Amino acid sequence: MKQVVLPKAPIEVANLVGGEHVAAKGGVREVVSPYTGEVIGRVGLSTVEDVGRAVAAAKDAAKRWRAVPIKERTQALFRYRELLLAHLEELGNLAAIESGKTVDEGAAGVMKGVEVIEFALSLQNLDDGAVLEVSRGVTCEVRREPMGVVVGITPFNFPAMVPLWLYPIAIACGNAFVLKPSEKVPLTSHRVGQLMTEAGFPPGVFTVVNGDRVAVEALIDHPDVSVVTFVGSTAVARAVYRRATGNDKRALCLGGAKNHLVVVPDADPEVTIDGVLRSFTGCAGQRCMAGSLLVAVGDVEPILDGIVERASQMVLGRDMGAIIDRPSLDRLVAAIGRAKDDGVRIRLDGRSPEVPDGFAGGHWLGATILDGAKPGMECAQHELFGPVLTIVRVPTLEAALALQSESPYGNAQTVFTTSGAVARFVADRSEAGMIGINVGVPVPREPFAFGGTKQSRFGQGDITGRPALELWTQTKKITSKWQLQSDSNWMS
Ligand code: NAD
Repeated sequence: MKQVVLPKAPIEVANLVGGEHVAAKGGVREVVSPYTGEVIGRVGLSTVEDVGRAVAAAKDAAKRWRAVPIKERTQALFRYRELLLAHLEELGNLAAIESGKTVDEGAAGVMKGVEVIEFALSLQNLDDGAVLEVSRGVTCEVRREPMGVVVGITPFNFPAMVPLWLYPIAIACGNAFVLKPSEKVPLTSHRVGQLMTEAGFPPGVFTVVNGDRVAVEALIDHPDVSVVTFVGSTAVARAVYRRATGNDKRALCLGGAKNHLVVVPDADPEVTIDGVLRSFTGCAGQRCMAGSLLVAVGDVEPILDGIVERASQMVLGRDMGAIIDRPSLDRLVAAIGRAKDDGVRIRLDGRSPEVPDGFAGGHWLGATILDGAKPGMECAQHELFGPVLTIVRVPTLEAALALQSESPYGNAQTVFTTSGAVARFVADRSEAGMIGINVGVPVPREPFAFGGTKQSRFGQGDITGRPALELWTQTKKITSKWQLQSDSNWMS
């Protein structure tokens, strides 16, 4: 496990507009490291006018970029992939110090992005259109064309990876992309902007607009923006989706989650203990694919004991990172207290953890396990977004599936079992969008697409993989007759 390296002085972050760094005029926000509570950066917040200037530069770039053949567009993406790999450790560290991840988790996010880039690079070799002689001497042709200026609004918990789900494919498809990163984690995007410029993308093809709600709403309302993508909490995802579609824009907005890990008595103990542990403690539970509800079907006590035992050995700063900010830590501590008041047994209490040396000012919560919760309780129903595992006991597999069915969320559901029949039963009946069979974090690899169901996703389609082509392009159908015969029938 690598140690985080904090900057000697706060990093100053400006917008990237038309290839230049431009200061935003809506005030400055301090970037605080979850590891220490210290200020590690300062980011300018964009006004409506700042957003207007950025979109104008992107619009200008989009006009030229769409005319560049895809094989040329992807040349810069090849170079960018090399730059990401060359700067892997630096970017992993940046993502860690601003979001609270471990350095390895930060680097893993970049590597997932590299995989998305590799998918985007493959687009240049796909024959994605079709030409057919539909009548004698008459051909129909379908072409994919870019949408123009497209936007990605992203959350704090994956400063590198979530933006990387979006801009490589969008840009390969010929769009100009405007990124609005979370104002809590602008440092990684700032560096990424420099690397995109170094890779040789023309000015304005990749834009970074920093800011908060003001910037988000200005982007959604801007008439020259054609696609809005959003990843974040469900309440904001819903609001952004409604506002964007109300403005006649195409929108895909991913929200929060409460992912269920179903454990049945025939589960392999080691695979299950390891899978559950990684799922609820990875990224300190601050990820939309965290398995935060363990649904114990029947008697699985030895496995539960094993999870508690292994979780109690986790070392903060080595095995698990920190919580994004003080209000989030306070919210988590309060939720654990309310679960106790509701009669839930705290089998592992992370509220007074051993803090790593030199990081006393950080926001730390140890792994926490709440047992005997009832469906409908806050800890069983709501996304807490921290390293907290809630255990609910049910008598049958049907009851386990009913819990998922009643959940407002639908990102992921996993079953731990050695029975093919049980695995198939869950995969067939679950209402979640991503199913794991003995896989605690069932994130699909490219070209399979990432996307949940219910209130974990607003809009059509998935955000990566082949479905992303539908998101970032529109089709044009061209019907031509070049053998200029005059005879015609209803088909010509
Ligand atoms: P958030 O909703 O608070 O913020 C996300 C983005 O929205 C940020 O860029 C922020 O500036 C902006 N924003 C915040 N409030 C806004 C408002 N009122 N109006 C307009 N814009 C606003 O989310 P977060 O706390 O940064 O991220 C954590 C959440 O993201 C969790 O719920 C997590 O499950 C979810 N998430 C989902 C996925 C997924 O793929 N479904 C992936 C990662 C994170």
